[in-house]
Amino acid sequence: MKLSRYLIPTLREPPSDADNASAALMQRAGMIRKLASGIYEWLPLGLRALKKVERIVREEMDAIGGQEVWLPVIQPRELWEETGRWKIYGKELLRLKDRKDGEFCFAPTAEEVITDLVRREVRSWRQLPLMLYQFGLKFRDEIRPRFGVMRAREFLMKDAYSFHADDADCQSYYEQVYGAYSKIFERCGLKFKPVEADSGAIGGSYSHEFMVLAETGEETIVACTKCAYGANIERAECPPSKDSDGRVSPLPLEEIHTPGTFSVEDVAKLLKASPKSFLKTQLYLADGRPVMALLRGDHELNEAKLARACKTGLLERANDAMYEKITGCGVGYAGPVKLPMWRSPDGKTLPVGIYADMSLEGAANAVSGANKTDYHLKNINIGRDFQPESFADLRRALPSDPCPRCGGPVRFTKGIEVGHTFKLGTKYSIPLKAHYLDNEQQSKPMVMGCYGIGVSRVVAAAVEQGHDEAGIIWPSSIAPFAACIVAVEHDSARVREAAETLYRELWDAGVETLLDDRAERPGVRFKDMDLIGIPFRFVVSEKTLAQGEVEFKRRASKDLERWKLAEAAGRLRTANR
Ligand code: ATP
Ligand code: MG
Repeated sequence: MKLSRYLIPTLREPPSDADNASAALMQRAGMIRKLASGIYEWLPLGLRALKKVERIVREEMDAIGGQEVWLPVIQPRELWEETGRWKIYGKELLRLKDRKDGEFCFAPTAEEVITDLVRREVRSWRQLPLMLYQFGLKFRDEIRPRFGVMRAREFLMKDAYSFHADDADCQSYYEQVYGAYSKIFERCGLKFKPVEADSGAIGGSYSHEFMVLAETGEETIVACTKCAYGANIERAECPPSKDSDGRVSPLPLEEIHTPGTFSVEDVAKLLKASPKSFLKTQLYLADGRPVMALLRGDHELNEAKLARACKTGLLERANDAMYEKITGCGVGYAGPVKLPMWRSPDGKTLPVGIYADMSLEGAANAVSGANKTDYHLKNINIGRDFQPESFADLRRALPSDPCPRCGGPVRFTKGIEVGHTFKLGTKYSIPLKAHYLDNEQQSKPMVMGCYGIGVSRVVAAAVEQGHDEAGIIWPSSIAPFAACIVAVEHDSARVREAAETLYRELWDAGVETLLDDRAERPGVRFKDMDLIGIPFRFVVSEKTLAQGEVEFKRRASKDLERWKLAEAAGRLRTANR
């Protein structure tokens, strides 16, 4: 490709709304342009990198027996109603109507559509296992699109779905996918770590996220420094640590006047007590039912864990009005003792579900709100004064927690989630009735797995991980071009010819090369080449030609080498292997 004819609109400055390095560099390098919030155009250079990632992903999916399909991006509401996700998915789902008022959504994922396809086409155990995958545009109306294509609204995903006769087959295939994912990210030249993940609204029983390690990543990873354990903070288990040994004698419950004082810190100061002796409360609605999460005063709630404990996909924090309605007191004074009953929409009187963190088991003489404005209770004893519906792991892990596997110290790091694998089990096959007949003619639900990779996010993650002040430093496997040539004196026929010859030789040797033949000052062109980050750079000039040579430089290094012009293409082919 000759740059004089190629659309690479590089920019000296990043657009003002570029909020991380990759968003700035991908736009400066002329790879992408923003059309609307979270919606991007991919220009020729950007698309080349995207296609390289896509190719690697396709090869590894094919290698584990995947079959590529292409599914619609417009999906009918009825299918989403069958799984209940039309309601659960919320505002991220872009809903639309056709001219006949038929309701549809733009695909944010494709479990419903693929399961529907398979339930229609697969009948027998002989057709299983089956893995289908696609590269498809997804649309999610993200609340805060950011970081360029990293958290976009429209993005390219590889989504794969596998169907099995039983759980054991699904499990062993899951492990193959895990291996394929590791190969994909290795081949993309990324530093990454697979971690245990929360399965969130898509649900299922078992899941991992593949994280590209980067300071600017949005995800917090808890990684053991001794063993291989790694988990997303949303998932990270907190080893049980009972605070009470049960030997403290329970004191009589006491009401205390705490006007205008409601945060744990302030009440603790007032009472000269440690925040550890508090039962911190947070009120939620789980599928519309009020629930109270209870934590030790110095711990933080992990909402994903609470959702799992309440077995809900729809957890909402109670707003102030709901809070007051549920507790009968002002915000800040709720507690687990004598919590008023609650009237459900169908007229039943029910208790508020209290979910207590495991560390509170056996807690004695604790402080909490009295469900009475301006009052707290002292000497609350679990068991004597109230009984939680259950004890569960509800809190957010802390850097001081030991590894839940080996007890070793953990480290918190940041990552970008580029891939996600789920063992779904029968979560979709049961409601959608994707059944097969086993070898005894018994009808059984298929067992499913689903596996996503954010292909467009991988490109951004590679830039986030590989760049310096001058621009992008591509891993060679996904660089849009392998090499570039700058012809310094573009008005010299000799230089131009030598550059063109090298250009043709490189392409003939299988090295994808960009020739910078623009009538720009050399300094400008060198800057652009550094910005777009092509791994190998040749400079042809009158000076190098006088010696029958060409200057060679790797993007990631400062060293300048001189290569014999006649040998350059052959040498690079070997280096590029
Ligand atoms: P996140 O937690 O980052 O929102 P997710 O858990 O919603 O991701 P999945 O539903 O598992 O994502 O989708 C599979 C993959 O698609 C993710 O691993 C990620 O690489 C990519 N992806 C998800 N949302 C976006 C987005 N808004 N922009 C770009 N890529 C995305
Ligand atoms: Mg998401």
